[in-house]
Amino acid sequence: RAKKKGRNQFEMAKVEVNAGAFERLIIENDLRKAIDNHQLSISYQPQLDLKTNRILGFEALLRWNHPDFGMIPPSDFIPIAEETGLILPIGDWVLKNACLQIKQWERAGFYSLHVAVNLSAQQFLQKNIVEKIEAVIKETKIDPSLLELEITESMVIHDIDSAVSVLQQLKDLGVQISIDDFGTGYSSLNYLKKLPVNTLKIDRSFIFDIDINPSSKALTTAITTLAHDLNLNVVAEGVETYKQLSYVKKSSCDAVQGFYFSKPLPSANVIDFLNKTKKVVQKNA
Ligand code: C2E
Ligand code: MG
Ligand code: MG
Ligand code: MG
Repeated sequence: RAKKKGRNQFEMAKVEVNAGAFERLIIENDLRKAIDNHQLSISYQPQLDLKTNRILGFEALLRWNHPDFGMIPPSDFIPIAEETGLILPIGDWVLKNACLQIKQWERAGFYSLHVAVNLSAQQFLQKNIVEKIEAVIKETKIDPSLLELEITESMVIHDIDSAVSVLQQLKDLGVQISIDDFGTGYSSLNYLKKLPVNTLKIDRSFIFDIDINPSSKALTTAITTLAHDLNLNVVAEGVETYKQLSYVKKSSCDAVQGFYFSKPLPSANVIDFLNKTKKVVQKNA
């Protein structure tokens, strides 16, 4: 009896594993067609300048509305996109559509709003990444200073010298560069002074307990002081509460992004949001 039960359990486990693999295969296969089938979209999360209380711009966050599984979060499909190389066409799609969005906001009377686009390591390591970005800027006719590219520490530590060279070429195009999830990666402060970047985004793991954990507060303040000494801007990610906001302000962060102000918004809702906040840079303002 015990033996039989054991075998059934084993078979059950095997079926589950295969189901997982099967589901992954479906996801992988469907992801290939997601762009053509218009299942991808971009949500936009506002970033607020703490000195002027103005909306600086938005971070572009990819969404996949799967016909059977519904909304699949990026954490579930971006790793698959990276493993399969699909992140390259998907990344191109995000970049182009984020730039087109800037023009749409301008047509609606909202100028100077930037868009931050997350780059994955594979995109960043493409031989022609600089040419690609330059081509998108030309094609969509955006002001390059409104495009911000988010990279992570892990993308630059393997080969700092070539990362510095690519980042400098990107900066020469006029785009802004930020380091995302700062503080969670390799975090050698030594390389930071070499990197031609504009902004550090403090990871939300430091923000979520900033009002109750003295270490998180100390780290946020230290990162901000360091960044300002290096002439970098600091954005606090993941601000969810008023208390967190006040601590972030006390730590002298320049800008915030988080659910306290807004969740990422479907692009159709952004104009509404901007009209409601009334503190954005408008034409002739
Ligand atoms: P990220 O770049 O660090 O983006 C911020 C994430 O934090 C977003 O999750 C956002 O919804 C979430 N967030 C913002 N404010 C709050 C808050 O107050 N509380 C909490 N709990 N979460 C908050 P999302 O949209 O699920 O994206 C997850 C990650 O997927 C992103 O992290 C980014 O690394 C990646 N990702 C998203 N879109 C793209 C893309 O187009 N390309 C690439 N390569 N990666 C992307
Ligand atoms: Mg990001
Ligand atoms: Mg990121
Ligand atoms: Mg982040």
